[in-house]
Amino acid sequence: MHDERDPQDPAPQAGTAVRWRRDLHRRPEVGFTEFRTASRVAGALADLGWEIRTGTDALSPGDRLGVPSDEELTAAYRRAAASGADERFLPAMKGGNTAVVATWRAQAPGPAVGLRADLDALPIAESGDPGHRPAREGFRSLHEGVMHACGHDGHVGMAVELAERLVADPPPTGSVTLLLQPAEEGGRGARAMVPAGVADDLDLLIAPHLGLNLPTGTLAPSLDGLLANSKLRAVFHGVASHASLAPHEGRSALLGAAAATLAVHGMPRFPGHETRVAVGRISGGTSSNIVPDRAEMLLETRADEGAVNEELEARVRAALHGAAATYGLTVDVDLIGGVTTARADRAAVELVEAAARAEGLRLVTARAEDGVASDDATAFMRRVQQRGGVASYIGIGSALAAPHHTPSFDLDEAALPLGVALLEGLVRRALAARRH
Ligand SMILES: [Zn+2]
Ligand SMILES: [Zn+2]
Repeated sequence: MHDERDPQDPAPQAGTAVRWRRDLHRRPEVGFTEFRTASRVAGALADLGWEIRTGTDALSPGDRLGVPSDEELTAAYRRAAASGADERFLPAMKGGNTAVVATWRAQAPGPAVGLRADLDALPIAESGDPGHRPAREGFRSLHEGVMHACGHDGHVGMAVELAERLVADPPPTGSVTLLLQPAEEGGRGARAMVPAGVADDLDLLIAPHLGLNLPTGTLAPSLDGLLANSKLRAVFHGVASHASLAPHEGRSALLGAAAATLAVHGMPRFPGHETRVAVGRISGGTSSNIVPDRAEMLLETRADEGAVNEELEARVRAALHGAAATYGLTVDVDLIGGVTTARADRAAVELVEAAARAEGLRLVTARAEDGVASDDATAFMRRVQQRGGVASYIGIGSALAAPHHTPSFDLDEAALPLGVALLEGLVRRALAARRH
């Protein structure tokens, strides 16, 4: 069958979730550049009769972190416009306002159920090895250096198929809201959607994630232990001088960054808590005979409790400023991403468990360290919980060809129809529960 496949339609016989997954897999877009992905989803859901909020109605632009440069945004926008973006929704997304909130309402009022799906891909070059199925079957990334290596293409595919099923057989009461968020990777998108009020009136929020080292056919009804994190960019400013004739007149920004790197990695830890610190990139200087006047660092902290992460971040900031002072520099430190922790509510977990049993899925326990270490769905979960609703982050089993965030990552697509069935069963149960 595979040999007869039209290369323009990599899975003509497959269900909606798999077809969408393969289309998005071929055209991955990184955080805040999901112009094609977001506009097409908005278009598909609008055509099904769902209410759509997008652009600045779905997100507060000033609350985004780590937004790409204007040049990157413009290039991605043009590429999307030339490759099948939905023109009805694309213009509102200009500048990287790529969130979509889609709501379906039944005839009669009832519970408000929300589901999160994330739109973004990663800056990873996808494997071209024939052993890698997307390469072998013609849906490898067409965007060199960008890849859906976390399964978000599958999340969006499942959301669209779920939307179709609810419209085909509408539940009598309540509403369903799909929170299609940009820039999950790096913890940058959900935090900008929460201030737009998109999660305020939800009674239940479920954030599903595929993979997580769980076999196909299994389901983890909650995933605690997601780490809070803070992602920082530090820029040291010094004074350039001749490295041999006048080294005493220079102030080396690179020395400050180097000293800060050692200080950060030497931080004392917190007994009883999972913590991490990492300096992931350091760059600066121009030539061997010039004292470098600028150096940039990208670094992060993580912890299993928000307060511990805050303390760790404060100490890291102190180390950055201390290193700057030591070498006569100044330093600018910016938060470029960050997520908090959240815990599942018992009521939400019980609903998920009931739906999973009804669909014949095997319930398992998942730990954050098996797959995602952090996820900014926690921002939505916290908001819903603050307003009296309940939430859970769930793992939908899908055998993986390679770990998340690696060039040979691939989902088991057999998991997608199972995931759709689970989410459909869950939504129908929740809408019938009449919490209000
Ligand atoms: Zn990821
Ligand atoms: Zn992910």
